[in-house]
Amino acid sequence: MATDYYALLQIAPNATDDEIKRAYRKLARELHPDTSGGDPAAEERFKEVTVAYETLRDPERRRRYDMFGPEMARGAGAGSGDPFAGAGFGANLGDLFDTIFGAGAGSQRGPSGPPRGNDLEVTLTVEFEEAVFGAQRDVALRAPVLCATCEGSGARPGTTPVTCSQCGGTGEVRRVRQSILGQMVTASPCPRCGGLGDEISSPCPDCRGEGRRTEARTYTVDVPAGVDDGNTLRLTGRGAAGPRGGPAGDLYVHLRVRPHERFQRQGYDLVHVLHVPMTQAVLGVHVPYETLDGSEDLVIPAGTQSGRVFRLRGRGVPHVNSRGRGELLVQVVVDTPTDMSPEQEELMRRLAAERGEEVAPPEKGFLSRFRSAFK
Ligand code: ZN
Repeated sequence: MATDYYALLQIAPNATDDEIKRAYRKLARELHPDTSGGDPAAEERFKEVTVAYETLRDPERRRRYDMFGPEMARGAGAGSGDPFAGAGFGANLGDLFDTIFGAGAGSQRGPSGPPRGNDLEVTLTVEFEEAVFGAQRDVALRAPVLCATCEGSGARPGTTPVTCSQCGGTGEVRRVRQSILGQMVTASPCPRCGGLGDEISSPCPDCRGEGRRTEARTYTVDVPAGVDDGNTLRLTGRGAAGPRGGPAGDLYVHLRVRPHERFQRQGYDLVHVLHVPMTQAVLGVHVPYETLDGSEDLVIPAGTQSGRVFRLRGRGVPHVNSRGRGELLVQVVVDTPTDMSPEQEELMRRLAAERGEEVAPPEKGFLSRFRSAFK
């Protein structure tokens, strides 16, 4: 299924709610089986367009889609009472389409079970070196976890839940209504049992029948080598526990990487601007140079021009999930001396004369002239 929902609806990424609705109505009329004559391609597109619309019309889900893509938008909003929320579009959309397209009459599915817990998000700040070489870091959060007393059932120990008398255990009530698309069946959570399919006569005292409790938790996060600021890690099943023993959502860990005092990242390469004195650039020098892997001998050859870049292969950032590393780019900036003693100035004048290079005359002396420039 295509994943650019905006392209599917033929709208701009900053479309207003109204534009989204209008675009969907227009496409739905075009692609509806009554107009398209049962063309399977149109039917498939109609499903895609509907999924896109259901995501983008909901502000929270749209925000998540914009940030993380369709998978995340799907997981969001569990327990909101929206027929598309929770365990994913699959089951509910299937029913909707079967009704619209007149297929699958009598298609059965079992009770959907307790809903999935929400996805959660945390931000983890790591040091520059930790992002480069990887690290194990703990994240602490308060989140709903399975109630140990009732093991998620919500029933007081020694008692068991009974099947809901209103929905018969399916957890949903269905209504048939007419719409612009023809006859539609909407399924909504059973108001009596809250969509869970069973009722609890004697709730668990520790979770008041919810089957989960909010507790402080600490998870160890494996930060892979090579991650960058703004990357997000997903810890499957570390989100909020679902009510009544429902599956847990996922935990999204947004990474912030502290800047390094010398190195800046450009993709997998590291860049360092190295200032060297004029004399070293002219005459050349071996300098001990601290890479992230340790000290190395950096050779600045005689006659190095300002701006020259030395590339240290394999001293950049490891590629995430593959072999190889970027380069360390050392860019040389030659510093012009500004703190010359009268003796040094005299040497420079002799050098200039020797090379036949014209320079300004010593009006008030180099030092006083330099100082007056800052007055
Ligand atoms: Zn409990």
